[in-house]
Amino acid sequence: MFGDVRYNNFNSYLQKKFGCRVYKISLDAGLGCPNRELGTPCVYCDAQGSGTGASLEQASIEDQMTKWMRSYRKYYSAEKFIAYFQAYTNTHATVSELKQLYIRALHFDDVVGLAIGTRPDCVDHEKIDMISSFAGDYEVWVEYGMQTSHDKTLSLIQRGHTYADLKKAVAMTKGSGVKICVHVIIGLPGESYDDIMQTAHEVAQLGIDGVKIHLLHVIKGSQLEQWYLNGDIRLLDKETYVHFVCDFLEVLPPNILIQRLTGERHQDMLTAPKWCLQKAVVIRDIQRELKRRNSRQGLRWKDKNSGL
Ligand code: SF4
Repeated sequence: MFGDVRYNNFNSYLQKKFGCRVYKISLDAGLGCPNRELGTPCVYCDAQGSGTGASLEQASIEDQMTKWMRSYRKYYSAEKFIAYFQAYTNTHATVSELKQLYIRALHFDDVVGLAIGTRPDCVDHEKIDMISSFAGDYEVWVEYGMQTSHDKTLSLIQRGHTYADLKKAVAMTKGSGVKICVHVIIGLPGESYDDIMQTAHEVAQLGIDGVKIHLLHVIKGSQLEQWYLNGDIRLLDKETYVHFVCDFLEVLPPNILIQRLTGERHQDMLTAPKWCLQKAVVIRDIQRELKRRNSRQGLRWKDKNSGL
């Protein structure tokens, strides 16, 4: 149903919709994050707030857009782009400040979309209404950091919100014209295979449009790095991760767009596991495993929902 890929690939969706490959420009607006301001960042987060670090170098949104659009055009002959506010919490400002920020990125030629990464406890109706005002002219996504459906894990990793907060944010966003993506992490401390699959079943029931699946990885300078160096946590090996991702995909509805299948960090920032640096190999192995099983995204979701 998805060709050889066997999952509902986000890039293919964009290619079909816009007639060419669409490139995401990762932006760092330096908006900060409520968790970091409280002095209790998520245990896996570093000073760059899971972003490029551009705001720490005082690079404006215009500088970042110009630099990366030029680079993608030069090296990949890119034609169209999505402005992706990635670092920190990109709804952590007033509605008017946020609106101006998004407009500054959208006014560049050939930008066809807006993606906003944020925490589920940092949106309200006013912010969603403002974001949805762009949805008539652009491909607009909000990406919520869900990570897991288990409150005990959310507490352990210092997320500062609950699963109920995520469900509330999703309910608030649904029907606004803004598409919803959630981020999940596989391999979180203390989580069993059954815990991970329970999260997969919860994601399947949320009625969202997209998912980013991340591998738990250790970034230099994070609290998680201390846990790892002290031997307090164990990381997944590649084979186990591939197996878990395939199981996860099987229970998701076939219509959910898969935006990411593993983590992505520069080698200078990564402590472990080193195997995740070979992103293409991980994705290839996931595809091979689905093929070996003669499986695909939605295989077990369909069985469950058709009562078979
Ligand atoms: S919400 Fe995001 S930016 Fe804030 S501490 Fe957690 S990972 Fe870092």
